[in-house]
Amino acid sequence: MDFAKIPKRKLGFFPTPLIELENLSKKLNGPKILMKRDDLTGLAFGGNKTRKLEYLIGDAIQKGCETLITGGALQSNHCRQTAAAAAASGLSCHLALGGEPPQNYSGNILIDKLLGANIHWTGEFRKGEKIPEIAEQLLNTGKKPYVIPYGGSNEIGAVGFIEAMNELKLQLDSINRSIDAIVFASSSGGTHTGILLGSKIFNLNAKIYGIKIDKAEYENLDYELFLSILIERTKKHFEIKCEITKKDIFLDENYLGSGYGVLGELERRAIKLSAETEGILVDPVYTGRAFGAMIDLIEKKYFSKNETILFWHTGGTPSLFAYGDVMF
Ligand SMILES: *Cc1c(COP(=O)(O)O)cnc(C)c1O
Repeated sequence: MDFAKIPKRKLGFFPTPLIELENLSKKLNGPKILMKRDDLTGLAFGGNKTRKLEYLIGDAIQKGCETLITGGALQSNHCRQTAAAAAASGLSCHLALGGEPPQNYSGNILIDKLLGANIHWTGEFRKGEKIPEIAEQLLNTGKKPYVIPYGGSNEIGAVGFIEAMNELKLQLDSINRSIDAIVFASSSGGTHTGILLGSKIFNLNAKIYGIKIDKAEYENLDYELFLSILIERTKKHFEIKCEITKKDIFLDENYLGSGYGVLGELERRAIKLSAETEGILVDPVYTGRAFGAMIDLIEKKYFSKNETILFWHTGGTPSLFAYGDVMF
């Protein structure tokens, strides 16, 4: 793939660091654990959406749009990074956020406000369902809106993660290491699509181990089905020739807990363990859950001591500040 031919706007600092969690490996008496630090992409507290947004904003600018619209849950990391990308690119930004106007702006919504985003409160709708309605209103007032889907997960956004796998492969080669698995939080599909396609394109030879975060459907589709459609669409759009079988699309559904955004014991323990053994913060909604899942899999000996696994830290840390009252 020739990434240079795809419109892109630089928004983050890449490559993100690749580090080893030696203390945690020792503590768990488990496999070697590497961590890809996409919490450090640098765009208004960082996160995985920065990679997608570099291509989405590139596309928006190329199409001459001046207004971005996207949507998500109240504490959406995607919406925060989109608001920052808009500000950095001189575009205006509309966000459809699930929930009601809060009494207290904390975590991501505090930052959304600071970044100058126009917030539309959408109650029970937390997956951008109201985006088309807002786009219509903006069109009617003479604006040229650019719609970024929920999670930034379409074929354009997914390219950011195909490119991320190229970045990872170069980093691994430079330290003469290989990995047996990549563990990460999988939720709107763009990250998973890019990691899976990139692993084939750049010959990573690792099991792509997605931890499913949210059991709710999106666009009336089961997540697995949505994901397989997005993978096919991305392959087609960029003429990627690689074989993806049903077996390649792996999602572990055992860690859904009490629902999306609900902090449970698994997440609480993972957040504390990561902080206390490595000085690294993971978030309550995504990376805390996926990191908790990884720890559980290590404790159950799913990963053996002679393996190397890579945890992809996808960010989300600002939402820690919205969970203070339920953390301890
Ligand atoms: C959005 C998000 C994910 C999931 O990525 P998808 O591409 O939506 O599957 C994981 N972690 C964090 C912190 C996120 O914000």
